[in-house]
Order: sequence, then structure tokens, then C-alpha cells
Amino acid sequence: MALHFHQFAYRSDNYGVLVHEDETGETVCIDAGDADAMFEALDEKGWRLSELWITHHHGDHTSHLLEIKEKTECLVIGPDYGSSISGLDKAIKEGENFEFAGHNVTPIHTPGHTMDMLNYYIEDGKVLFSGDTLFVMGCGRLFEGSAELMWQSLQKLMSLPEDTIIYCAHEYTQANVTFALSVDPENEALQNRSELVASLRRTGESTVPTMLSIELATNPFLRAGDQAIRSQLNMMDAEDADVFAEIRKRKDNF
Ligand code: ZN
Ligand code: FE
Repeated sequence: MALHFHQFAYRSDNYGVLVHEDETGETVCIDAGDADAMFEALDEKGWRLSELWITHHHGDHTSHLLEIKEKTECLVIGPDYGSSISGLDKAIKEGENFEFAGHNVTPIHTPGHTMDMLNYYIEDGKVLFSGDTLFVMGCGRLFEGSAELMWQSLQKLMSLPEDTIIYCAHEYTQANVTFALSVDPENEALQNRSELVASLRRTGESTVPTMLSIELATNPFLRAGDQAIRSQLNMMDAEDADVFAEIRKRKDNF
């Protein structure tokens, strides 16, 4: 029943993840941006692909979907929010939980970066695949949704158990932490994490996955209610959503 995770890199800064269950031998890959990198990762582990879960319609997450499906005959699950990604066998919405190798999977709709964004949460595995919604000390750019909508989406993720392990789809951490320090300079947890990130990146190591509790303490996009950040932004009495919008705007121009 135990789940095993294997993250692999592709393109300049993308991550895919394989999730494998021993007893059934089933393996799912999160997103389909690079068939070669995925097959290499499968070979390395000796796993065979049975499913693909797609987070959103962007090319770096979907461009090799049809090729992978043709080669493996895997089941392809993805969002049912109007983006009509070709090759999906099952288009689903939040609320339509499904099962993977005896584990209940909760799809969470987190529009903002795109309107179709779907994150996948496995409660008994204490793991979330956050796509391009939540990054390590960052969040996705607002290509399709408003800041208000993205803030609502992030709040859904913030309400998960704090020990949830989070796999996101990009290694943007070094740039994110530099920005985070500009809006939250006195945060000691953030300062310490900045040093850790620098040492990991010096040797080319991944900063992903992360844990929700660590993000809540250091990710400025989850900290719109924090007094020190509000004071830094001169927004002591603003709504959380407006503080979030200001942080997002500053990051866009950073
Ligand atoms: Zn994207
Ligand atoms: Fe992406």
C-alpha cells in the first residue's frame, strides 16, 4: 500500500513526478511535458506507466501527452474546466475524487495561473501535486485568473494538514527566495531557508519537494495576513486578497 515518489527534471526548470505503488505495480506520472525524460526515469526505477495526471493545459505540462499515451496505453486524467486538452480519457472537476492503487485522490481546482488548474492531493500519502499554483516560496504567474481568484485557490491549499509534502512543477526557488526577502526581510525562518537554498543550488540539488508548514512560515504569497509583511508594504488595514495582489504585482516587476 505504500507509495513511492521519484522526481525527475526536464527542460530548463521543470519537474515531473512518478508515484508508484508496490502491490499493484501501478505508476502515475504527474504531467506530460517530456516523454524522453519520463521514460528514462521509469527505466531507472524499473516501473511501468499506468496513468498520467495532467495539471493544466500549458505546453510544458502537456506537449508529449499523446506520444506517451500511444506508447504506454496509460489512462489519462486531467481538468474538466474548458481547456479541452486532447487525449484525456477522464476529464474531472474538484469533488470528483478517484482511486489510485487503493488510495483516495482528491482533485483540487486552483484557478489563477490558468483557469483549468487542477492539483492532486493524496490524503493518506500526505502529498500534494501543486502544478504551477504553489511553488517553493512562490506562486504561479496570473495568466488567466485574477489575484482575488488565486488567493482563494491558495487558501484551499493552506487549509491542508501542515505536514503535507508538496511537489511543484518548477525549480524557481532561488529567484523566489530573493524576492521573498525583499517583502519579508526580518523573517528569521526565511533568512535561514535562504542560506539552505543557496547551498543546495550551488551543487545543483533540487529544492523540491517542500512541506506546507515550511511554506506557511516562509512563502510571502501565503503570508498576506502577516503583520511584518503588511507593515513593510504599508498595508496594515488592507484585505488579505489585496495584500496578496500587491505581493504578486511586485514579484512580476522584480
Ligand atoms: Zn504553467
Ligand atoms: Fe509550467
